Amino acid sequence: MRPGVVVALQANLKALNLANVARNVEVLLRQAKEGGMGCEEFLLELTEAELQARAESRLHRRIKESKFGLLKPVETFDFEAVPELDIRLFRSLLEASYIPERRNVIFLGRSGTGKTHMATALGIEACRRNYRTRFVTCYGLVNELVEARQERTLQRLIQKYVRYDLLILDELGYIPFSKEGSELLFQVLAERHEKGSVIITTNLGFADWTQVFGDPTMTAALLDRLTHKAHIIQCSWQSYRLKQSLRPQRGRRIEKPTEPSGTAMGERAEEAPSGEDSMGP
Ligand code: ADP
Ligand code: MG
Repeated sequence: MRPGVVVALQANLKALNLANVARNVEVLLRQAKEGGMGCEEFLLELTEAELQARAESRLHRRIKESKFGLLKPVETFDFEAVPELDIRLFRSLLEASYIPERRNVIFLGRSGTGKTHMATALGIEACRRNYRTRFVTCYGLVNELVEARQERTLQRLIQKYVRYDLLILDELGYIPFSKEGSELLFQVLAERHEKGSVIITTNLGFADWTQVFGDPTMTAALLDRLTHKAHIIQCSWQSYRLKQSLRPQRGRRIEKPTEPSGTAMGERAEEAPSGEDSMGP
């Protein structure tokens, strides 16, 4: 190859906004030569490398913008632990077609049943499909709205929350709102109605929502909008953590104090997945 060709090629690739390929072109060229690759195959490799790098950086950007509390993907969700879950429905939700259909998803159930984990997993899948997603606790959103009203930026903030393709509202009902707070939250949800999907996680049954929102007429109107075209997932099982701690510890022995620590390590590896916060591939 003529000297300077690679340098010129890299400059051209950068000028064409193909920075990822520009960075890797030398390695790709070497691999192509060593593998006896034809021109068509080489170009295909090159374009695929660029597309993949772009998809990865878009996913990172979407995930960062979503502000998930903990990054819990579906890969760390243990389906065997929740046989009562309608897995077919949940798997179809992971495909995210409820988003263009502007349908909502409501997770109802006690604390620890995996509602936040499932909502986050759906959010991560939405990011993978390039949907603008935002995760926020109800309490956090209400505080933001109240502050924005004081600073006279309420309309701008409401419009921001209306524009997301998917809004995940975590923990409805954990903390009751002030009258102002519930009106503001109602305003966001009313404005989003049929414009974008909402996922809500709550420990309250629908009958108890008036306790949180105060006004029965407003609550009825809100429920009517939210549940219209919604997928409702009743998490009626026990808390995951509680279940794990009550589970008979298979293969556990009472350790003698003198036993080498390696044995204990080996046993720990047999424990159920903790669902910790690593991202999947
Ligand atoms: P909730 O929001 O219903 O209170 P979380 O989603 O916060 O419950 O779950 C509590 C903890 O248990 C989290 O660490 C979560 O990752 C884990 N967890 C719950 N259900 C499962 C499951 N089926 N598989 C793996 N981890 C789970
Ligand atoms: Mg939760």
